[in-house]
Amino acid sequence: MKEIIPPPPPIIHNQFESVKDLFRRHVVPSYGRFDLAFARGSGSYLWDVAGQRYLDLGGGIAVCSLGHAHAETTQALIEQSQRLVHVSNLYYHEPQGRLAQGLVRHLAPGKVFFANSGGEANEGLFKLARRFGHREGRFEILTAVNSFHGRTLAGIAATGQDKVKTGFGPLVPGFRYVPFNDLAAARAAISPATAAILIEGIQGEGGITPATPEYLLGLRALCDEKKLLLLMDGVQCGYFRSGRFQSFQRILEGVPGGDAFLPDGISMAKSLGGGFPIGAFWVREPHADLLGPGSHATTFGGTPLACAVALKVLEVVERDRLADNARNVGEFLKLELLRLAAAHPDVIKAVRGLGLMLGFELAPKADVPAFANAEPPAALQFVNRLHEAGLLTIPSGAQVVRLLPALNLTRAQAAEGIGIIENVVKTLAC
Ligand SMILES: *Cc1c(COP(=O)(O)O)cnc(C)c1O
Repeated sequence: MKEIIPPPPPIIHNQFESVKDLFRRHVVPSYGRFDLAFARGSGSYLWDVAGQRYLDLGGGIAVCSLGHAHAETTQALIEQSQRLVHVSNLYYHEPQGRLAQGLVRHLAPGKVFFANSGGEANEGLFKLARRFGHREGRFEILTAVNSFHGRTLAGIAATGQDKVKTGFGPLVPGFRYVPFNDLAAARAAISPATAAILIEGIQGEGGITPATPEYLLGLRALCDEKKLLLLMDGVQCGYFRSGRFQSFQRILEGVPGGDAFLPDGISMAKSLGGGFPIGAFWVREPHADLLGPGSHATTFGGTPLACAVALKVLEVVERDRLADNARNVGEFLKLELLRLAAAHPDVIKAVRGLGLMLGFELAPKADVPAFANAEPPAALQFVNRLHEAGLLTIPSGAQVVRLLPALNLTRAQAAEGIGIIENVVKTLAC
């Protein structure tokens, strides 16, 4: 019997356009989104709604530390959600205590507060600094030019970039900005009202710029001398991405006096939950009890579910030595990017970063004919070309393209990504 095959529908349903239309009509348009809609992921690969595969070297902006749909974190999520999701911070539960213990173990004696995001973790550090200084009337926090500390009202005040502040004045008072990696400028900026200095170990949104060892050691000595808290925003550069738990540990490796370095507080988020929302700050002894009962709180921070997932991520990172993997695969990626920069200096001007937090700076738009005629900044145009070739990366400002992949990225996947970047670079080279 002959089968009757129905004719195809006259209009092929375009899933991307229908998803995009939902956003256009119902979602606050506060993001400049790429024309991509994803349906599923596995490891370092993502598939869009049309079934097209992409290698993900953006990692959800440094969040998906174990890649997508990691079997063990999925299992931890299922098991914990069947046992206990939420009880509130009025009560004790084991996962929060154990996760705090696990994080402290990677630093030094101190305590951890759990929040839900990087911005919230930083808010905790701001309140810590104000509590620390308030008896002496000190409240001011110095932050760095080109820094990024989140989109809350105090976060945009702390951020050393004008573009996040436009139209949101008056800003939360008490923040001033100093040039990054400039110790003399930090010293000169300290006033009788200053309570703390806050920096990123590697500036992320500011174009992937690591702090120098001299700057870190100098800031520590300066803060000790002036009785200031030294706070570090490890939301993007932390959590094993640099090859060590925190980026300052990597930056100060082998540097005389580096082993003794510790900030007074560190914020974390992004990679901490591997995609499950969780943020935290660690505060060092003797300041760990500054925020006493009733002084700071959040409904959702540190739920049994969030902490069980983050504990599983931590366990896998430690067991599979993913800090070493970040260091090794990151080194391979960096050397390959440096090779591309040397072969095509007309396209790639510089390569920066540590471990699996890397950025390459593109030549000015006017110098790359293929970029010159279109409106978007060079980084955006480059990232769009990578999308067409099946690779996801993240722009950082107008000139820098960032790689913030999963910590378990393999060398073969890294090589695949470099191949795609190289092809795009070659199409742009004159
Ligand atoms: C992403 C980021 C933040 C903000 O984190 P959210 O989770 O978006 O609130 C703060 N600081 C740095 C360095 C970041 O990269």
